[in-house]
Amino acid sequence: MSGSVANADLHCHSTVSDGLLAPGAVVRRAHGNGVDLLALTDHDETGGLEEARAVAAELGLRFVDGVEISVSWGDDTTVHIVALDIDPRHPELAAGLAQVRSGRDERAVQMGAELDKVGIHGAHQGALRFVGNPALVSRSHFARHIVDSGHARDVKSVFDHWLAKGKPGYVAHSWATLPQALGWIHGAGGLAVLAHPGRYRLSNKELRRLLVEFRDLGGLGLEVLSGSHSDEEAGEFARYAREFGFLASRASDFHGPGESRVDLGKLPQLPADLAPVWQRFR
Ligand code: AMP
Ligand code: MN
Ligand code: MN
Ligand code: MN
Repeated sequence: MSGSVANADLHCHSTVSDGLLAPGAVVRRAHGNGVDLLALTDHDETGGLEEARAVAAELGLRFVDGVEISVSWGDDTTVHIVALDIDPRHPELAAGLAQVRSGRDERAVQMGAELDKVGIHGAHQGALRFVGNPALVSRSHFARHIVDSGHARDVKSVFDHWLAKGKPGYVAHSWATLPQALGWIHGAGGLAVLAHPGRYRLSNKELRRLLVEFRDLGGLGLEVLSGSHSDEEAGEFARYAREFGFLASRASDFHGPGESRVDLGKLPQLPADLAPVWQRFR
């Protein structure tokens, strides 16, 4: 990509997945916050990209097409792979994402049943009130309903009590495999970035195994700066990026005002010695 980039944000969500703002509103907010290079990366879904791209063009904001793919890795670990600079119309990617999305309805029914057993009744119906895209019911929508109905004070505590792995409303699920996700991304001309590596609660040994496998499959980038990382984790993943030769990404993972800790474009700058992932954009 030619020209300098002062404020890139390469990971965020709209109402097309589990964000709170419509795709165009996400782009307007990013622009207002000073972002000069943006990727919209809804979960398993590219339906917001056209609107986002059109608004970005109006505002003169550089925009790349993205998606965040849900992947099952190892022994029931869910990891997220952010695909950047993809062709969203590529048939294999589109079919792959449709397949990943297709399991969500049944999972949501099961989550409703599990939550019912622990005294949270009607959670599935309740979650649907918060869903912007019927093909994409996520744990975030359940969390918003559970807060709204007075069972918890915020979304984070809903995950801590009910929805995180090992909690009563968590339902194990098979997403894409890592080779599938990287195959779709590369087929669609994009590059693959491992999202928020600090979130997976893996041992050092498991994390290294994931990084090696990801790199061997052609994965290029690591979210060094993420809205879900502490300063300490940012330092840790900067070291992993150096050791493994990964490009570095800057990724708020913004979902909405009042819900996300880090707003669009508000992360610190990447360490100067790391090569930023946007150097590889077309
Ligand atoms: P799903 O794809 O349905 O499993 O939902 C995953 C989404 O839940 C993530 O993309 C986040 O938006 C949200 N999420 C996961 N863990 C947490 C957490 N501990 N606190 C707040 N949101 C979370
Ligand atoms: Mn999300
Ligand atoms: Mn994620
Ligand atoms: Mn995300």
